[in-house]
Amino acid sequence: MLSYKNHYEKLEQIKNGKLSLRENVSFFLNRIKENSHLNAFNFVFDESLGKADQIETKIKSGSYGKLAGMVIAVKDVLALKDKPLTCSSNILRNFKSLYTATAVQKLIDEDAIIIGKTNCDEFAMGSSNENSAFGKVLNPIDNSRVPGGSSGGSAAAVAAFLCDAALGTDTGGSIRQPASFCGVYGLKPTYGRVSRYGLTAYASSFDSIGPFANSIDEIALILEVISGKDENDSTSSEAEVVDFTKILDTDKKFRIGIPKEYFGEGLDAEVRNTILSAVEKLKENGHTIVNISLPHSEYTIATYYILVTAEASSNLARFDGARYGFRADKTPTLSDMYVESRSEGFGTEVKRRIMLGTYVLSAGYYDAYYRKAQRVRRLLKQDFDNAFNEVDVILTPTTPTVAVKIGEKSDDPLEMYLMDIYTTSANLAGIPGINIPIGKNSEGLPIGMQLMANQFDELKLLQLAKTF
Ligand code: GLN
Repeated sequence: MLSYKNHYEKLEQIKNGKLSLRENVSFFLNRIKENSHLNAFNFVFDESLGKADQIETKIKSGSYGKLAGMVIAVKDVLALKDKPLTCSSNILRNFKSLYTATAVQKLIDEDAIIIGKTNCDEFAMGSSNENSAFGKVLNPIDNSRVPGGSSGGSAAAVAAFLCDAALGTDTGGSIRQPASFCGVYGLKPTYGRVSRYGLTAYASSFDSIGPFANSIDEIALILEVISGKDENDSTSSEAEVVDFTKILDTDKKFRIGIPKEYFGEGLDAEVRNTILSAVEKLKENGHTIVNISLPHSEYTIATYYILVTAEASSNLARFDGARYGFRADKTPTLSDMYVESRSEGFGTEVKRRIMLGTYVLSAGYYDAYYRKAQRVRRLLKQDFDNAFNEVDVILTPTTPTVAVKIGEKSDDPLEMYLMDIYTTSANLAGIPGINIPIGKNSEGLPIGMQLMANQFDELKLLQLAKTF
């Protein structure tokens, strides 16, 4: 398979002539074709081969970027100039982007090779990648199961070695949950750490962009590259971007909080036991385990779905048939054109969210739902603030179960929403979280553990993750 364990080994091998970058890229292009049944990609860029030659020359000349030669796939909600940007929706099926997202541009500026755009749930709404106008994605570990969502294509591509790494987006778990189902690392950074410019907005106060990879070193490296203030996104943060990669290895002992609310009803026994034995090991290694409580946790899912649907109903108003992508034809009036374009263009789940969001924002219900949910969001954030006065990181399962069967939850939206029960809280609080693949269940399906830290404390997540 691959002759290298991580990016650094790959660079070494290219420098000393053991690995040809062109052959490496053509290996990935072939694997993508051979694994087309996974349906992980919406678009594949054959011109990556030409890029490989250019970057190989740069590497050999000794002047090259931090990600030189790393082959990266990006979720199809992120803009790349002159390439399709569909959000896996029929409403944008023929839309091409006029500019490049800041996070993607930063990868390119550091000499990464963008190999294609990955499938996802429509407008990133979903937990199983079954809501895609481009068809469902299969889990590479067990093709009868979902890869998770919404960044299912990115997670599957990394798990099946169709690329070195991928970018996804996480509004309520869409990086960590599929990473857990596919057995790879996935990091959701602090809100504001990475510019959202060029990310198609789902819920603007929740959306974050982050990496998937098979090693923690690569996660750290990509995070370092894509982070930072961007004048095109006023919510991007001035917070210092430390050289995550340089200080990954540490003997530091952490105080690790175990919130009781994340180990209750609904948690699969094998997942629980695997997580708890990891906790035991951490204790043996000298870390301090602290039992904590995040008392408002039971309101997480309700609060999340009120607020994200409200934001989505507003963000998706721009897809009206007039300005972007799909337009219904032969409609008698302008208003029919809007209605028809949206009715035909959007899928069922997206319409459900727009309707729910419009309802919770409507005059008679605003106070009862939207305003109340904003207040509960504040309480949830306070739970975390209190916890981080006591501990460095919080450890939980990433998901209550391993990857579910295709179709198992797709008829019941509430069941589907509950797959994000442990991940939505980090987005409500704006804090970073990571999935660490820590084991497999008796059927060989990956089990993921989540670490969360205080805002801008990604380094602690990376350092602790590195010890596994
Ligand atoms: N599954 C969650 C939702 O549908 C999270 C999606 C995401 O993080 N983009 O909203």
